[in-house]
Amino acid sequence: MQQLTQDDKKKLLDSIRTISDYPQPGILFYDITTLLNNPQVFHFIISHLKTHYESFKIDFIAAIESRGFIFGATLAYALGVGFVPIRKKGKLPYTTISEKYSLEYGFSEIEIHIDAFKNSKNPSPNVLLIDDLIATGGTAVAAVNLIKQAGANCLESCFILNLESLKGAENLRKIVPIYTLLDL
Ligand code: AMP
Repeated sequence: MQQLTQDDKKKLLDSIRTISDYPQPGILFYDITTLLNNPQVFHFIISHLKTHYESFKIDFIAAIESRGFIFGATLAYALGVGFVPIRKKGKLPYTTISEKYSLEYGFSEIEIHIDAFKNSKNPSPNVLLIDDLIATGGTAVAAVNLIKQAGANCLESCFILNLESLKGAENLRKIVPIYTLLDL
C-alpha cells in the first residue's frame, strides 16, 4: 500500500487554514477551502486515494454533507463507482432513514435515501464512507448506521483529517476500518 511521506503530510497540512473560535469559542476550525483551491494538493489527495482504493471491491462511495461531498464525489468519479449523499435532515426529497447524533459543537441529524444502494447488482453492496474530518466521531457512526440500515456493507471509512485527541477514530474503528491521511 502506498503511504504518505512526512513531506506529503506537511504539504497537506500546510494547505489547510485553521480558524480559532469558529463556529464557537474554543473550537479550532480546519478550513479545507484553502486545500481545494490548491490544485497540486487537491489532485495529489484524489490520486493517492484512487491508488489506495483501486484494489478494494467498492460499489458506492457515500459521503457526508457537505465537505465530504467534494472528496467523495471526486473519488467516486475517479474510481468509476456510484455516489450516495448523506444529507442533513430535510434535504433529501424521497423516503429517508435518519439518525440523530451529537457533534463536537452541538447536535444534528443526517439522512439517507431508503433506496440509496438499490441499483447495485450486489445484494449487499460494498460502501466506502468519506468525510473531510473526524472529530468526536458522532457524525461518522451515524453515517455507518445509515449505510447498514439501507442494506449495504460499510467496507471502510476515510477522512482527510483525524483530530486524534477527541477519540472519534478510536471509537469508530470498533465498528468499521478507518483510513486517515493526517492524524493531529
Ligand atoms: P464529529 O461528528 O465530531 O466527528 O464531527 C465531524 C463533522 O463535523 C465533520 O463533518 C467535520 O466537517 C465537522 N467538524 C467537526 N469539528 C471540526 C473542526 N474542528 N474543523 C472543521 N470541521 C469540523
